[in-house]
Amino acid sequence: MSAVIEGFGGEIVGPDDAEYDAASRTVLVGGSPAYVLRPAGVEDVQKAVAYVAQSGLPLAVRGGGHAFAGFGTNDGGVVIELGKLAGIELVDKERHVVRIGGGATWGQVAAALAPHGLAISSGDTKSVGVGGLTLSGGIGWKVRKYGLALDNLVAVEIVTAAGDVVRASADENAELFWAVRGGGGNFGIVTAFEFAAHPTTDIYFGKLAFPANEIAEVLQGWAAYQRTAPAELTSIAAFANPFLGGPEAPLEIELAYDGDDAELAAQAIDPIRKLGTVLADDVALRPYAEVLVDGVVPPPGIQLITRSAFVDKDSVPEVLRILAETGASQGSPIMSVRTVGGAVSRVAADATAYAHREAELMFATTTIGPPPVIEATKPARQALWDKLTPQVTGAYANFLSDAGDADVAAVYPTATYERLAAVKREYDPTNLFAGNHNVRPA
Ligand SMILES: Cc1cc2nc3c(=O)[nH]c(=O)nc-3n(C[C@H](O)[C@H](O)[C@H](O)COP(=O)(O)OP(=O)(O)OC[C@H]3O[C@@H](n4cnc5c(N)ncnc54)[C@H](O)[C@@H]3O)c2cc1C
Repeated sequence: MSAVIEGFGGEIVGPDDAEYDAASRTVLVGGSPAYVLRPAGVEDVQKAVAYVAQSGLPLAVRGGGHAFAGFGTNDGGVVIELGKLAGIELVDKERHVVRIGGGATWGQVAAALAPHGLAISSGDTKSVGVGGLTLSGGIGWKVRKYGLALDNLVAVEIVTAAGDVVRASADENAELFWAVRGGGGNFGIVTAFEFAAHPTTDIYFGKLAFPANEIAEVLQGWAAYQRTAPAELTSIAAFANPFLGGPEAPLEIELAYDGDDAELAAQAIDPIRKLGTVLADDVALRPYAEVLVDGVVPPPGIQLITRSAFVDKDSVPEVLRILAETGASQGSPIMSVRTVGGAVSRVAADATAYAHREAELMFATTTIGPPPVIEATKPARQALWDKLTPQVTGAYANFLSDAGDADVAAVYPTATYERLAAVKREYDPTNLFAGNHNVRPA
């Protein structure tokens, strides 16, 4: 097989190999690529990119393979799978700079940093890739205190479409560094990310549950409280989950207080407890690395349709009213609303290609089921989004299962898109890296 690419030091999996079926699919979608290439180092990535460029085959780059839009595989093309590039090294102990391979997952990172008392603001799931999550944002349990995952980046090493290895930071190739912080995988393959990690203690973490008939009121109180809550507190409100009873499902507010002081944690969390009838409360002090969960792998044939948007301050009451009203009806998608604000909104909108800095909330609707269920629920989803569209702004690329022109336009405001397109022209003029919310070269 190495005859496919001379001198390739990693693995090449083709349709005749026993592992082909497993290698060709991602966590969420199946595929039938011609080859899955697993580079063992940066030079292999360069060779793989050169091979794809000269073959003319479509390319999918796979980090953790969790993209809802299935970007991590394709049919008939080449998948470059980065799982072997998963080194995690504390390279500067004083500044807490950590160098992480482009194919590592957040579970690996949290486990590797825990013995040093460090963590990086990331997401909530172990198996999600550092690559995809960081390149489009990164909204996790420390987001209000330390910002998005990409706000903690200090540099990247990236293999461009020309096969060059380029370093980008605030001081080197600064425009490329701006673009990779929100522009997804459009500019090349990131072989290493360098983050400034932050010290972490154990954190207060758990779930509060409220009855379904209190959702409308509790949601409004919860969202209003975020404006005065300490930045240490980050939470996700979820409801209408058909696996927990659909319209009868409780409202679950999962929260993290980033600190180990019991009194301060209670002061931060109690105002949420007082919003309604608490049915369950399992908030307890836990190691940060242990609050991340294992991603659930849906069985083959089950699809996930996810769509997201941001909510600015003035629209919060109306958007939450619409979500609560829809959640109370049969066949509603699963609703999940995340607090942002805090450190995220202290970064200027044009400082990174992730531009949605004003938002107080990010929410996603998710429908899970076999194709007939997805099809049957389409009109209701459309009706919901028709109501929401005048009230919301943009979309969070990491929670989108579609990648059409309207989705791309929602992810990148016009000025951001134009600036990204200029960077794309410089680093990927032929749009080799198109398996993403795609920016076309200017
Ligand atoms: C169960 C689950 C939980 C999630 N939880 C969160 C959460 O808490 N917070 C949050 O913000 N998001 C969350 N997400 C969304 C997640 O951030 C996106 O799905 C993200 O795209 C996943 O990245 P990945 O590397 O695993 O996926 P992939 O499908 O491998 O990659 C996604 C995109 O990034 C590109 N890419 C990946 N790695 C690289 C690289 N090294 N260089 C260049 N391009 C690369 C790929 O080409 C593709 O376009 C979750 C998703 C799932 C399925």
